[in-house]
Amino acid sequence: MKTWKGRTEDGTFAVELQASVLGALDRYCRDAGSVETGGILIGRYSDDLAIAIVREATPPPTDSKRGRSWFVRGVNGLREMLGKRWQAKERTFYVGEWHFHPASHVEPSGDDFAQMLEISRAREYDCKEPLLLILGAGKLEGSRIFRAFVCPAQGDPLELHCDEARETATETGEAV
Ligand SMILES: [Zn+2]
Repeated sequence: MKTWKGRTEDGTFAVELQASVLGALDRYCRDAGSVETGGILIGRYSDDLAIAIVREATPPPTDSKRGRSWFVRGVNGLREMLGKRWQAKERTFYVGEWHFHPASHVEPSGDDFAQMLEISRAREYDCKEPLLLILGAGKLEGSRIFRAFVCPAQGDPLELHCDEARETATETGEAV
């Protein structure tokens, strides 16, 4: 597994998901079985602010509530954890959310985007462009399928597409 890099169609947002993060997410999803789960994404921005670099995905906080097709992420322990990350040598902070939907078709719900919009506007998160990562139950070539979105406080959510797929499409002359 290697770092996954994606960007929006218009090139305004880019993200890097490190292999260790994808590995941890895969384990959390497996543990969840047939119910939804989720947690937060912690990372930082590149020096030129062009790329969100995800360094860590947390397991679901213990006060989270979940069902087969819904999930409400809790908050237990997050404040302390984020405080420590902020003080660390490499400062990292809240950059978004991840969800597991136990289905083969990976689709964000209207509720998902509504929650992200709330987060993007909430002062306590201090994150105007949070990421939303949605992982599914299926695998493709050994890797769990997922979709990534950026949810700006102003405007609609935008999907981030894998850079490699984009290059391949460009090489074969297909519209990107
Ligand atoms: Zn969801």
